[in-house]
Amino acid sequence: MSEPVGGNGRGMKLHTKILLGLAIGAVLGVAANLMLGADHPTVEWINKYLAGPVGQIFLRMLFMIVMPLVFASIALGVAGLGDIRNVGRVGGKTLAYFLVTTALAATLGIILVSAIRPGSRLDPTVRSELLATYAGDAATKVEASQAGGFGIETLVNIVTRNPVKSAVDMDMLGVIFFGLMFGAALTMIKPESAKPMMVWLQAVQDIVIKIVEIAMRLAPYGVAGLIFGVTSRFGFALLVPLGNYVMVVIGALILHTVVTLSLFVRFGAGLSPLLFFSRIRSSMVTAFSTSSSAATLPTNLAVAEQNLGIPRHVAGFVLPLGNTMCMNGTSLFEGITVIFLAEVFGISFTIPQMAVVMAMSVITAVGAAGVPGGSIPLLVGILAMFGVPGEGIALVLGIDRILDMSRTTVNIIGDLTATCVIARSEGVWSAADVPAVVGGMEREVKLDESPDWPKPAA
Ligand code: ASP
Repeated sequence: MSEPVGGNGRGMKLHTKILLGLAIGAVLGVAANLMLGADHPTVEWINKYLAGPVGQIFLRMLFMIVMPLVFASIALGVAGLGDIRNVGRVGGKTLAYFLVTTALAATLGIILVSAIRPGSRLDPTVRSELLATYAGDAATKVEASQAGGFGIETLVNIVTRNPVKSAVDMDMLGVIFFGLMFGAALTMIKPESAKPMMVWLQAVQDIVIKIVEIAMRLAPYGVAGLIFGVTSRFGFALLVPLGNYVMVVIGALILHTVVTLSLFVRFGAGLSPLLFFSRIRSSMVTAFSTSSSAATLPTNLAVAEQNLGIPRHVAGFVLPLGNTMCMNGTSLFEGITVIFLAEVFGISFTIPQMAVVMAMSVITAVGAAGVPGGSIPLLVGILAMFGVPGEGIALVLGIDRILDMSRTTVNIIGDLTATCVIARSEGVWSAADVPAVVGGMEREVKLDESPDWPKPAA
């Protein structure tokens, strides 16, 4: 039929096209910003009628399938683990892994920001200008943070009252919980009743992954449109005064990826980091251009299964959970930003207080939604804890999009790393299972391919 996603050897590979889209969109956007300015009618027209719609259609294609995919993957993932004790073991291991890597990320960020101290170098005039410009946006975020605190209700609300409403509201944790219960119950009923449901869920999952493949054909254009929108609006103007802070965030994200996560890939997953990163390019570019872990989940699942060869029941279990719970990039960013803003406002931290910042960064990264700017309201909450004015967030809002793109990329790299490590530790996957063909997402998903769920090692 049509060209498989990822390319099939004929013509340019999909991920090359996506990267090209990214580069072209960015160059045109920066050029438009520098030469015409963000408010120029032509730039506005392009954003309204061309770049914006193309980007949004790509994004919506991905969002469209997130909820059915999360439900089917989690239910099948749990059912595939068979015994409820396996679910407990794999679930416990997965959560422990999420917490450890998220805490390592926050710690790295806090150490770097404390050593480099970008907050002490911010020009006071820039500070007041930024506070004035972004005061309105900051007020909205402060309100949002007051509306959605992190308390006991957050935990109780995970047990959804109405899974359909959760899906409609994009309440991922509610849908995950329903999927977990559904999958667990599926293993407890008579096999002859369970079988048709498994086949049906399997079909749902195959169909949505097929839709991802179709959506990914739009990716080069969608990505170009999304990036054009960001760069034409923001340009480089704020990168200079906030340069030190931006460099600390991006430097720490790179260090976490190249050192910490690569060590997990090498020793936890037994896989060459170079091979790993080359296989997950489609996910990385999707995360970077959408700034949304949730929007990247469909691509992530396809990449894990088709480009890394991870058994579907493991990827389907770990990735949807990691998507909301494992945000390495976000917790690193939060740790840095709290300490940076505190310093700008003349507040300094003792080591035990830094430990609290670290813990709060981890907790809020677990609670943040995987959407653009999802962590900002929670970040405001941490700032308030330490007496930093919530409006202080105004200082960083103007450049948040570029930081968001970068931290979301690290979030999804963390999720995929977790999937490999957990799959290997369960004895159901090893580096030898990574398909030899480069290019990815080119294998047809066949309905008859996985009725026999690989069972985890006893
Ligand atoms: N945009 C991030 C994500 O989707 C969340 C955040 O840090 O704001 O993973």
